[in-house]
Amino acid sequence: MSFLDKIGFKKLKDGLFKTKDNLVGKVNRLVNARGIIDDEFLSELEEILISSDIGFDTAEALIGNIKERTQRDKYTGQEELNSLINDELKKVFAETTSEFSTFDFNTGSKPYIIMIVGVNGVGKTTSIGKLAYNFKNAGKSVLIGSADTFRAAANDQLEIWAKRAGVEIIQSTNTSDPASVAFDTVKSAAAKNTDVVIIDTAGRLHNKAHLMEELKKIKRVMQKVIPDAPHEIFIVIDSTTGQNGLNQAKEFSNALGGLTGIILTKLDGTAKGGIVLKINREMNLPVRFIGVGEQIDDLQVFDSKSFVEAMFEK
Ligand code: GDP
Ligand code: GDP
Ligand code: MG
Repeated sequence: MSFLDKIGFKKLKDGLFKTKDNLVGKVNRLVNARGIIDDEFLSELEEILISSDIGFDTAEALIGNIKERTQRDKYTGQEELNSLINDELKKVFAETTSEFSTFDFNTGSKPYIIMIVGVNGVGKTTSIGKLAYNFKNAGKSVLIGSADTFRAAANDQLEIWAKRAGVEIIQSTNTSDPASVAFDTVKSAAAKNTDVVIIDTAGRLHNKAHLMEELKKIKRVMQKVIPDAPHEIFIVIDSTTGQNGLNQAKEFSNALGGLTGIILTKLDGTAKGGIVLKINREMNLPVRFIGVGEQIDDLQVFDSKSFVEAMFEK
């Protein structure tokens, strides 16, 4: 592991602390307290699993596996029981796969256009700053488009993030039409041969129909410049919102004719990080990036192997 990887892993571990304590910690304490697998044990285990947001189906499957194994293999003590259960937990987490493991993923088309959507406050603008920073560190040129023209402050906030990341930004000057900003951004990136374009969008929901129309228009207008744009539509979901986040993903997906991935933010602020499993299972949409803090280097490529290690390392 390189020095930078080590820092990243420490951030991941720290960021997952609450979930680790709520899930792995509680399960271990339950085993130590009861030491025997009976119906009561299993129902308490189920409660812990559900409270960590891993989802009902996953919890049921996990408990089924544990029942089966304890009937088949005779375990001799608490330590063995503990490792058996940790083993099964690890297995379900490891099933949550992601296609790539670095920010240097193949951005075959140039410019590679990423549109960011999601409701207010989930962390879109922050994640765009972090994404830009990481792409830049991976050697790519980045242009950000500030197509959240709804709030005046949104533009300033994104500008600050662009400065921190050291990348260019296209802002709305004399228009409040987000599609126009997106158009200008893509056009400029095409002219300058930029590698990656990231488009910020508004997320207010007070008029949902209008928001969805606006997002569709942004997509349509970018396609005038680059016919297969956007190459990615990432929905940002706040991990502390649970089921609500899944409903949001469905709505945005329906309106936009599909999404390509999830940026799951604020994992550091929740004990319910099991939502990663639930989302992957129920949405059939990969979690691509996770946010584990508010700093610029607090966005990580989601990699189930590191996730499992961070959750289960003693
Ligand atoms: P937007 O409305 O979707 O653009 O959301 P913002 O990017 O403005 O973020 C809303 C708030 O969430 C800000 O205070 C961010 O600092 C915070 N935030 C975003 N991502 C994370 C994260 O991964 N961890 C934590 N703790 N806070 C985050
Ligand atoms: P439609 O909504 O798909 O019918 O597309 P329009 O042709 O009406 O364009 C929609 C929006 O895209 C316009 O309001 C502009 O914001 C933007 N747009 C389209 N073409 C251009 C262009 O040449 N320059 C700029 N700046 N914006 C454009
Ligand atoms: Mg924003």
